[in-house]
Amino acid sequence: MDFLIRTKMKKEKLIQHRTPFYCYDLKLLNQTLDQAQTHAKKHDYHIHYAMKANTNDRILEVIQSKNFGADCVSGNEVKKALEKGFKPNQIAFAGVGKSDEEIEIGLQNDIFTFNCESVQEIEIINELATKANKVARIALRLNPNVDAKTHKYITTGLEENKFGINSWELEGLLEKLPSLSNIKVTGLHFHIGSQITSMTPFKNLCIRVNELNQWFLDRGIHIEHLNLGGGLGIDYQNPKENPIPDFELFFGVFKQFLEPRVHQEIHFELGRSLVANCGSLISKVLYIKNGIKTNFAIIDAGMTELIRPALYQASHSIENLTSVSSDSEFYDVVGPICESSDCFGKKIELKPTKRGDYIKIHSTGAYGEVMTSGYNLREQNPVVFV
Ligand SMILES: *Cc1c(COP(=O)(O)O)cnc(C)c1O
Repeated sequence: MDFLIRTKMKKEKLIQHRTPFYCYDLKLLNQTLDQAQTHAKKHDYHIHYAMKANTNDRILEVIQSKNFGADCVSGNEVKKALEKGFKPNQIAFAGVGKSDEEIEIGLQNDIFTFNCESVQEIEIINELATKANKVARIALRLNPNVDAKTHKYITTGLEENKFGINSWELEGLLEKLPSLSNIKVTGLHFHIGSQITSMTPFKNLCIRVNELNQWFLDRGIHIEHLNLGGGLGIDYQNPKENPIPDFELFFGVFKQFLEPRVHQEIHFELGRSLVANCGSLISKVLYIKNGIKTNFAIIDAGMTELIRPALYQASHSIENLTSVSSDSEFYDVVGPICESSDCFGKKIELKPTKRGDYIKIHSTGAYGEVMTSGYNLREQNPVVFV
C-alpha cells in the first residue's frame, strides 16, 4: 500500500496492531487541506470543516491548525469543536432536529450561525434566545430543489427530502420575522447532497442561489453571507491516481456562476473531500471459502467498522497488501457480521488471497470511523497514524 511503501512499514510493523484498525496518512491530510485552503483563499472563500465526516482528535487538531471553521450537526460536535480550539465565530450549527439543550449550547457560546431548517425551529430558537438574553444569528437553510445526482440516501436538496425550508414557506416566514426579536437572519444556507462528482449540480445550485438571493434583496432583507454547503465527491475507484479532489475546479464553478452582492461572504462546508482519502481500514483475512461464482474472502472488519457499503451501496477500492503473487483472482470480500449486507464488494480482483493476509480498504477517512458501532458487541478499533 502507498504509505507502507513510502514509510517502508513492513509486515512485522503491521502485526504490532490488532486488526481491524483505521490508519490515517497525516501527510496526505495536510496536502489536501493546503490545496483546499489555497484555492478557497484565491476567491476569499471560507471553509468550515463538516465535522461529522471524522471527529478523530488528531485529525480535528490538524484541521483547526490550518484555520478552517467548523460545521457541526449536534450539540456535542459544537462542544468538541470549541474544545479543539475552533473559535465560536467559526462554528455553524446545522441539523433538522436540534434539541433545546443543543440550541442552548450554541446560544451560550455565541456561535457564528444556527443553520435553520424549519419555521418552528426558528420560533423555538427565538424563544430560547429571549430567555438567555441573547440574539441568535441564523442562516435560513433553503431547499433549492436541485438534484445532486448522487445516491438517494445522500441527496438532500430536493423538495421530497426532509432538509431545509421549502420555497412555499418563505412568504409566511418573512411576515413572522419582525416579531422574532431575538433572531437575526444573517445568511442563506444550502447543501444539496454528498459525493457529487459532476460540477453540473453545483452550477445549477449557483443559478438557484442567485434567484433566492435576489428575492431576499427585493424584500429589503440584508444577507451577510451565503453558505453553499459541502458535497464535493472524491474518486473512490482510483484513490492512488487521484488522492486529492480538484478544489480549483470546484471553487471555480462558484466563482463563475455565483453572483454575490458586495460585502457578501461566501462559505462552504466540506467534509468528505477533506478527509476521505487520507484514511484506510486495515483488516486481516480470517478465512477463504468457496462460493458458487467466486470465493469469499472473510475478513475481520465488518459493517460495524465501515458501514458505507451496507448503508449507501458504496464501493471502496480494496487491495491485498501482503500477497506477493503477480496473479489475480476474484473474491467477494465480506465481513463477519450476521447480515448479508455485510459485504465490502462482490467480484473484487485481488492477488491470490489466503488466511492471514492484510487487506486495505481505501478512502475510508470520511464517514468510516465515526460510524462504527458496537453491534454484535464488537471490539473498539485501534487507530494508527503515519
Ligand atoms: C454532511 C454535511 C456536509 C458535508 O458534506 P460532505 O459531502 O461530506 O462534504 C455539509 N453541510 C451539511 C449541512 C451536511 O449535513
